[in-house]
Amino acid sequence: MKSYNPYDNFLETVEAAAAILEMPKNDYEAIKYPERELKVAIPVEMDDGRVKVFEGYRVQHSSSRGPCKGGIRYHPDVDIDEVKALAAWMTFKCAVVNIPYGGGKGAVGVDPALLSKNELKRLTRRYTAMILPLIGPEKDIPAPDINTNAEIMGWIMDTYSMFKGYTVPGVVTGKPVGIGGSVGRSAATGRGVMLITKEILHRMGTPVYDTTVAVQGAGNVGGVAARLLHNEGMKVIALSDVSGGVFNKRGLDIPKIMDFIDAGGFLKDYENGEFEYISNEELLTCEAHVLVPAAMENQITAEIAKKLKAKVIVEGANGPTTVEADKILNDMGVIVVPDILANAGGVVVSYFEWVQNIQSLTWDFDEVNRTLEKIIIRAFNEVWDKMHEKKSTMRMGAYMVALERLADAKKIRGIFP
Ligand code: GLU
Repeated sequence: MKSYNPYDNFLETVEAAAAILEMPKNDYEAIKYPERELKVAIPVEMDDGRVKVFEGYRVQHSSSRGPCKGGIRYHPDVDIDEVKALAAWMTFKCAVVNIPYGGGKGAVGVDPALLSKNELKRLTRRYTAMILPLIGPEKDIPAPDINTNAEIMGWIMDTYSMFKGYTVPGVVTGKPVGIGGSVGRSAATGRGVMLITKEILHRMGTPVYDTTVAVQGAGNVGGVAARLLHNEGMKVIALSDVSGGVFNKRGLDIPKIMDFIDAGGFLKDYENGEFEYISNEELLTCEAHVLVPAAMENQITAEIAKKLKAKVIVEGANGPTTVEADKILNDMGVIVVPDILANAGGVVVSYFEWVQNIQSLTWDFDEVNRTLEKIIIRAFNEVWDKMHEKKSTMRMGAYMVALERLADAKKIRGIFP
């Protein structure tokens, strides 16, 4: 069996969408290659005096439609193909929701749980210094991703600003609100997942109330989505984090569980209430009507897909479903709302944050959430219509909408020189 390469997954999906559109090769050839790839070695002085060197990356996939945009991930398993795929997915995500950005992504090969706060800060500052020639509010704007957060974004903003000699809030999004972050940003990806879940249920004639859902991941995406879906009246029957999963077919007490996790707890240690512990595979294949994979790539493999019981998948994570699994799910009649639409809420509110920064304005919660909903539902409709027009899947619909916008931008700009 060939090993999983997320960038190959991306390329295959693009080729499939281009084929349906009968798009000439010249129109999308460039989109298959990241514009720039930077690899850096990051020396960090550890608290005990040793020097450790970490590998880092920043990939700029496309700047055709605007500055590159995308998060920074801290994870021990990152490699260049993963960062390239994550950057490319950002390009398509920004295009499908029609915000004026291209796509980029950064990563450092590190498990931040093994670092002290000061080590993490030194690592972040040195990494920022090393990618500094690439980033900037008009060039490439990082944001949080797996294992990075508002505090880390604050350090990036400060480091960049120190080099410039003045404060540049718009260099990064997902910052603390006190230094130019936007209200509503930290919950935005989960909020987008909730809006999309309600919309797809609505389109399928399924009531939201009491419909069962399983959420893989209890971090910034899964955790927030679980809370919001619960608030909307859905029955969250399964939830997992890195330590394991919990299940109760009558519904979990999500506010209680999430308060425990948000206070730093792990699900394997949770004991409060009625539920059974389940494995990752049991979570993915449980009886829930809706499955929200909101953890890592490559979770719904062909093998898992065959055992899946959910009728609807809303991809909170980036790239959770392999190309092979996608085909199986399609044959099984499972509706998959693709990542580039389902989890776009985060980058949409990142865009609002950047807009506020460059205009020195602040928006309130109501304005952020209202505008987010407008953009997400508009994108949903465009994807839905494209899917019907071409008699295809939602993933293909999303890729087609994005690909047409990207090809259009390339055509209008032309190829330099
Ligand atoms: N890391 C998030 C994503 O994958 C957000 C990116 C951003 O806000 O720039 O969509």
